[in-house]
Amino acid sequence: MKSFITELHKEAAINDLRRIVGVPSYLQKAVERAPFGQDVLDSLVECLAIFKEQGFSTYLDPEGYYGYAEVGQGTEIFGVLCHMDVVPAGDESLWETPAFEATVKDGAIIGRGVQDDKGPTMAALYAVKALMDAGVEFDKKIRFIFGTDEENLWRCMEQYHKKEKGIDMGIAPDAQFPVIYAEKGLLQVYLTGTGSDEFSFSGGAALNVVADTAVYSGDRLPEVSRELSRLGYDFEEKNDKLYVKGKSIHSKDAPQGINANTRLAEAMTAVYDHKAIDFLGRVIKSDANGKSVIGEFKDEASGALTFNAATVEINKNETRIGIDIRIPVTFKKIDVEEKLKEAGEIYGLVYEEHDYLDSLYVPVESELVTTLLAAYRDVTGDMREPQISGGATFARTMANCVAFGAMFDTTKDTMHQPNEIWQLAEMGKTMEIYAEAIYRLCGKK
Ligand SMILES: [Zn+2]
Repeated sequence: MKSFITELHKEAAINDLRRIVGVPSYLQKAVERAPFGQDVLDSLVECLAIFKEQGFSTYLDPEGYYGYAEVGQGTEIFGVLCHMDVVPAGDESLWETPAFEATVKDGAIIGRGVQDDKGPTMAALYAVKALMDAGVEFDKKIRFIFGTDEENLWRCMEQYHKKEKGIDMGIAPDAQFPVIYAEKGLLQVYLTGTGSDEFSFSGGAALNVVADTAVYSGDRLPEVSRELSRLGYDFEEKNDKLYVKGKSIHSKDAPQGINANTRLAEAMTAVYDHKAIDFLGRVIKSDANGKSVIGEFKDEASGALTFNAATVEINKNETRIGIDIRIPVTFKKIDVEEKLKEAGEIYGLVYEEHDYLDSLYVPVESELVTTLLAAYRDVTGDMREPQISGGATFARTMANCVAFGAMFDTTKDTMHQPNEIWQLAEMGKTMEIYAEAIYRLCGKK
């Protein structure tokens, strides 16, 4: 098959990727017209400048929440949903090259954002540019939409929807190939209750991962320790505290992890009479599908619900349990919410919603999914079927939009990690796939 992409397009994509990786666009304090910090706004402005140089018309939200760049004609809009914000570098001593300086080495590019999502954004830009250079005309407007709060609360897209109209179809280049046609609903909640004078409990680092450590301190340490041993759970005693070990994994895959919080609570049920401990240690235990708490939620299209009691804090003042739930696409939030409220009430726990993202589902037989899949298969020869995911991309913020690339099954997933890296050969392949797919969906027939 003839490719639209030339070496020049690949080089230009790398050079422009360097420019935006150079801006440390992680969430910081708001300043005027930059709700997520000056650096986040600067990266958006730089990105818009890059698109403008390539012949796109651009727009920056006056309040600084989002921007977009457009090319093509027609009344329909094909959206490409990207984000310019990144997560922080993390422990910089673990980086072999500077996090916010893109380094090209051994056929790969390294730096924060090269996989998530600045690299795929540049690949998609030069895929469209290659079509323009080949004289392809578009029968739709191709609109790249740049969010700036994807790694946090998606407030950019909330503003976009307040101020702009939606798209007719689109992709989010922010996940995996071949194509993700269903993403589960995402509900994050806190259950709060009274604390304890007898012990303190602290476990888990964030709502989107399974807790790999839970820490106990209190007078009855020998008994809790004995119970942990009896259960055969991995733990360590250090400075008059017990550190229970789990296995961390992304919340969407919670059943494949080991939850340190519920393990510690399970041991504590033999020693303490405390409602929240009972809820965690007698009801939930190792159940990462929530069946024991809210019953079974499972469907053909997207599998079983996942349930992760991700964070637990119990101290003198209060109990606070953070839960991450991924809901199969055919169920509604309210079904889960009501059941969880009821279950919590029995244990004196009050329900408080933290975040909710609606699910995504575009039928496999739709024009969008079949065309994307065919383009992917024709370019790569990889015949894998469309996928479902518990992960969340901007695709779910728009109707008729799916996640499409840019990672292959051979790609080492380094998103959010030190030494984030993308192989240039994969970046080139991604450009070919995007060009072919957008040509088929938006090229004037
Ligand atoms: Zn992303």
